[in-house]
Amino acid sequence: MTTVGVLAIQGDFAEHRAALEKLGVEVREIRLPDQLDEVDGLIIPGGESTTIVQLIDIYEMRDKLRERIMSDKMPTWGTCAGMIVMAGELSDHRPEPLHLMDTSVSRNAFGRQVDSFEADLEVAGIDGPPYRAVFIRAPVFISVGEGVEVLSSLEDGRPVAVREGHMLATAFHPELTDDQRMHRLFVGMVEEGKR
Ligand code: GLN
Repeated sequence: MTTVGVLAIQGDFAEHRAALEKLGVEVREIRLPDQLDEVDGLIIPGGESTTIVQLIDIYEMRDKLRERIMSDKMPTWGTCAGMIVMAGELSDHRPEPLHLMDTSVSRNAFGRQVDSFEADLEVAGIDGPPYRAVFIRAPVFISVGEGVEVLSSLEDGRPVAVREGHMLATAFHPELTDDQRMHRLFVGMVEEGKR
């Protein structure tokens, strides 16, 4: 049985849980560092990155997260605020990201006028019709390192989904639509990691 953890300290973890359960995956809500030993993969959900990082530090999860994700190579996916949390560096002063990926990220990159929007994306590794992606106060990648594969970009060329080995990050919210293809892609990465 594949067990996927969802960091459940703030944000839309319940929606991720529901999407994973539809795929028949065992889900654990993660609120304490040691719970990270019980899962094969982790999703860091959308929400408010400053709050998520603040709570990660209050619950003393930073070191354990880095150990499981960087040393053990536990497959991990950050959506929206989660992508900010996983970033290598931010153009913003806050929060202090976990410095997991070789990415440079800007928060709230689309500004207030286009707070939220939807876009049809081609995503590498996903078959069938274009993927309808929901963006809410979304971040963007300013740049990504050589080892980072861009899976999808907006029409203007800005990347919005990337993979770096066992790590996945998306600027949009796959947990808010009925399309489970992104979750299936990630569960595939978790199953790969178990072999
Ligand atoms: N802009 C938010 C932040 O900085 C992220 C928004 C989201 O997760 N929908 O945390």
